[in-house]
Formats: sequence, structure tokens, C-alpha cells
Amino acid sequence: MKEKDFQQILAKYADLAVEVGLNLQPGQRLFIRANQLELAPIIREIVDRAYQGGCPLVSVLWHDDHETRSRFEHAPRDSFQEYPTWKTDAQYQSILNGDALLGVRGDSPDLLQGYDPDLIATAAKTYAKNVKPIREKIVINAVQWLGICPPTPGWARAVFPDLPEDEALDRLWEAVIQACRLDQPDPKKSWGKNLDALKERAAYLTDRGYDKLHYTAPGTDLEVGLPEGHIWIGGWDETPDGVQFCANLPTEEVFTLPHRERVNGTVRATMPLSYQGSLIEEFQLRFEEGQVVEFSAEKGQEALQGILETGPNAGRLGEVALVPHSSPISQLGLVFLNTLYDENASNHLALGKGYRFNLKGGTEMTDQEFMASGGNDSLVHVDFMFGSGEMDVDGFLKDGRSEPVMRSGEWAFEL
Ligand code: ZN
Ligand code: ZN
Repeated sequence: MKEKDFQQILAKYADLAVEVGLNLQPGQRLFIRANQLELAPIIREIVDRAYQGGCPLVSVLWHDDHETRSRFEHAPRDSFQEYPTWKTDAQYQSILNGDALLGVRGDSPDLLQGYDPDLIATAAKTYAKNVKPIREKIVINAVQWLGICPPTPGWARAVFPDLPEDEALDRLWEAVIQACRLDQPDPKKSWGKNLDALKERAAYLTDRGYDKLHYTAPGTDLEVGLPEGHIWIGGWDETPDGVQFCANLPTEEVFTLPHRERVNGTVRATMPLSYQGSLIEEFQLRFEEGQVVEFSAEKGQEALQGILETGPNAGRLGEVALVPHSSPISQLGLVFLNTLYDENASNHLALGKGYRFNLKGGTEMTDQEFMASGGNDSLVHVDFMFGSGEMDVDGFLKDGRSEPVMRSGEWAFEL
């Protein structure tokens, strides 16, 4: 891509993130968490855009892959429970202050390949514990928050291992540009339309009030109970003060809260899962009364086990999401090895913590009340993909009648 064209793309991306994703309000500060120094060009563009729009203060918390790998390479083996609590404290304070929160990640999916799975699990658990207070705020949409994943060389290398580095990065950018609709004449307008449509679809499903969903596909036969008062969310999110924002760019999903005790059957993943520097591939899970009771993976078995053992309830579901197989991201025909993109190309589930806003009155409930209503509380929230063009989904109403929700991976009802 020509330098000038690339600058224009960055400007559009930044504009979209600040104005649609975060919907930064007049006088509101912005806190940015960046996990790669290579993300500097887009971060700088976002900082500019925020200040130009009148933002009184932008803070960036930087992190780098090299730091992470260096620790696994050289640090004392018994030091992986150390954590820089000031980092999470700073973010937490920002949320209390009402600042908008932006996470910019360009993870290398194979960052920790070959390192000791026990150390990786310890580091992941330590991180999960420390980030818990922030997650508690996120699951009630306490402030506008947004996650975006711009391409980085390490990620591009993992997606296109056979291409030279420059070409791989260009190819990944092309895919991200299309997935984020940055090639549209007016990406903000185009997203506005899509977010409205997702919201309408979510409202329809909430109105149906299904008691459970039944999924069938090769390797998958799963019943997912839905709690009384569950709310489907799609497109626009909203803070308690009524500020609309969009927490993921791109987003193509509608999602709700599964019942933590009413999930039964088997599920086969249809895409690899990139989780904190490890890849988990060709895996399946079996659920009994909400709990994973059996699991296996061709690759990354230890990483999968690590997720399931991250404290109580990590082996129960916290999210169930529907995405048609023909979603614009799915049509790119690329496995991104990055959950933000892959989850928006496929029906997916998340292990762990459920979102409070997916349940009527959920944001005001105590942990006990939320759990008693069917919601799940956990240190983790890990989405994984199991949708395909061969998947059927049926919705069961309270009286036992069923109706098709999806057929061969596509919506089976018109709005
Ligand atoms: Zn999701
Ligand atoms: Zn999720």
C-alpha cells in the first residue's frame, strides 16, 4: 500500500474508534492500553484524533511482546506470580473517574510457543486475578470501552507463514481494512447501519424469550439453556448513563447469557483459538449440567486445561453468540488467529464470566443473585468458535415448541 493511502486508512480507523466505538464525550478523558510498540502509528493517530476533538487528557499504557518473551526466557521460574499492580490500579482509577477505555492489541498468536505450559498458566492466572476488578466494571458497561486489533508483523507472520514479512503484513492489513469497513466511502455511516441492524436482530431474539437453544453440526450436539430474563445484545452497547458505544470493532454478533447449569452435550471447535501466546487447535468439549466434564485438543491441550482450571466456574459458559456463516468477515475466507475477528465470523461460546447487562436487572445484582439467576462468575472470559455452514440452531419456547433460528449457518427468520 502507498504511504499516503496507508495514512488515510489510519486516519479513518482512528476516527471510527474514537467517534463510533468509544463515542468519546465532551470533556471525557481517554485511557489507552497498547500491547505492542509496533502499534504506535495507529495509537498516535488515535491520540491526535482524541485531542483534536477536545479530549482533556489521553494516557497510554504501553506493553511489548519482547518484555513478555524475555520474562519467559530469563526470569526466575518461581517469579511468575509477580504482577505490576499499578498497571491495573491505573486503569481501575480511570474507570472510576469516568474515562473511556481503549484496548489496542496486535497479539502474536505463537508468542509463547515452546515455553513451559505451567509457567504460562501461572502467568495467565496471575493476570486474571489482577484484572478482575476491571472486568467487574466492564461487564456492567460502567464506561464506554472498546477493543481493536490492528495488524502487527508477529501476527501477520503467524497467519501467512509462507509469505515474506512485508507481504504478510500487507495481506493482513487488506483483510482488516475490509473487516472494519475502512474501504467504504464513509465507514462511520456504514457501521451505524450495521450496528442498528444487529440491535434490531437482538431485540427480536430477546422478544422470543427462548428457554433453550439446540445446536447441531458435525461433532456438535449441544443444548444451551437460557435464563429467565436474558437479554440479547448486538451492535450498540450502552453505559448506565445512556451513552451509546460499540465495544468491538468489528462486530457482527448478537449474544446473550447462557444458564450456567443448563448446558449439556458436545461441542467441536471449528477454528483454532489463540489464547495468551498459545494456539489451541482441533478441540472439543463435553458439558454436563453446565460444567465441562471432558475435553481434548490436537494441539495446545495444556493451554486449554489452563483456561478450565483458572479458578471456579472457568469450565462453565458465560456467553452464547450467533453470527451467520455468511458474515462479511467469514466471507474473507481467512482464519485470523485472533478472536476479535474470528468470533465475528462464526457462532461462538465463551467460557467463564457472563455479562451482567445480558440479564434483566443483572447490573444491580450481587454476585450471589446473578449466579442464582443462572449467570456465571469467573476470572476468565474466553470466546471460542464452533459455527459453520453446516450448523443448525433451534430455539425452544417455554411450552416446548421449537422454531428454527439458523439453518446451514444462516438466519432462518426474517425481521
Ligand atoms: Zn462474543
Ligand atoms: Zn466474549
